Amino acid sequence: MAFTEEVYKSRRIVLVRFVRARTGQPSYTYPDLDDRGWLHDPVGTRGETPALVHGPVFGMSQDREVVIKLERLRLDESASGGPDLFVKSEDDTIASIIEPANGELPADGTFRIKGGTGSWRDKFCKITVHVGTVDGPLIGECGVRVFQRRTVRVHPWLLNLRGSTTPGGAMTAGVCATTQARITTLFRTVNRIWRPCGIYFLVDAADTSGSVNMFGNPGEITENSGAAARNHPNGTVFSAGADDSNPVHRNNRQANRCNIWWVRRIRDLTPGAGTTMAWAMDNTADTGGVSQSGIVMTDAADANDLAHELGHYLSLDHSDEPAAGAGGRSRSDIQVLRRLMYRFNPHGRTGYRSNVGYGSGMRGALITMRDKPKHFRDDEWFEARRRAIQGPY
Ligand SMILES: [Zn+2]
Repeated sequence: MAFTEEVYKSRRIVLVRFVRARTGQPSYTYPDLDDRGWLHDPVGTRGETPALVHGPVFGMSQDREVVIKLERLRLDESASGGPDLFVKSEDDTIASIIEPANGELPADGTFRIKGGTGSWRDKFCKITVHVGTVDGPLIGECGVRVFQRRTVRVHPWLLNLRGSTTPGGAMTAGVCATTQARITTLFRTVNRIWRPCGIYFLVDAADTSGSVNMFGNPGEITENSGAAARNHPNGTVFSAGADDSNPVHRNNRQANRCNIWWVRRIRDLTPGAGTTMAWAMDNTADTGGVSQSGIVMTDAADANDLAHELGHYLSLDHSDEPAAGAGGRSRSDIQVLRRLMYRFNPHGRTGYRSNVGYGSGMRGALITMRDKPKHFRDDEWFEARRRAIQGPY
């Protein structure tokens, strides 16, 4: 069967494309691909290797295996008389094709890649698609970044936040519902999300030794995000923008760790302010002799939330901020919604934007591997890894 294409002036005709081999929950073996555009990245200005490839880029760890899928867009399947297609790596010491061994793609288009090993921290290479033989005409390419694994050690706290519910009422204990088992489960997914970036979170046993007297209800951090002072039901006045979290993150700390404090909830006294599931102070927040970096998690926050906050901790900003200093403005294009650092979870979009590949209504988990000149918040692998490498973990 022939494909016809009506072209006005000029058009890029794409014969094949690379896609995630399985959609749904994050999986290390089936990574998402950063497919934002086809042009080469600009020269790296901070020391990162630019992706010089006309195709998508995915990340993986050294000495690990992942599976990627090639889809035929304007080529018949082999069984219908289309050409046989072959894949190969431009540098087997960085990434090699291990299945199929001869490079000839099976009917489902999947192929398995193994990352190389070495003392290097990150390298980039291309994987190319050829017609007829592995040396036949080139019709498509993608890029892979292979990362040396960096460990970030995490110290989880299950704090007793003592508080009172009525004016002059007794202070009573407030421990969150999150357990050691829940934390283990959350980090299993977190590590699936972050391993394509070569970052592994190693988690200490949950620490129950901390106790803090709060100004709000037992187990809760209280904030007032509004512009007017508000009274808590127990009589405490919270000025505009105030919260009572300082004693939590300044006093309960394990050195050389990313500290994470679990609480029952974060209560915002401002009506209509919405629910805060978690927040993060990045790992440069420890200045002026005050150590306060870390993450506050609530019982209701999920693994995607935790992975997102770890992104903030490692310096990443929201994907829907179009430019520096424009924090309040949101973008809603698919390239932004698919990303781990999109502001909202669930992302709440409808129609074709309700599923970005991770299940209906779910925020995606893509950490960007490319640097597009018109996307302000991308090239995320580089900055997150730089922070992880510089940190004392
Ligand atoms: Zn965020």
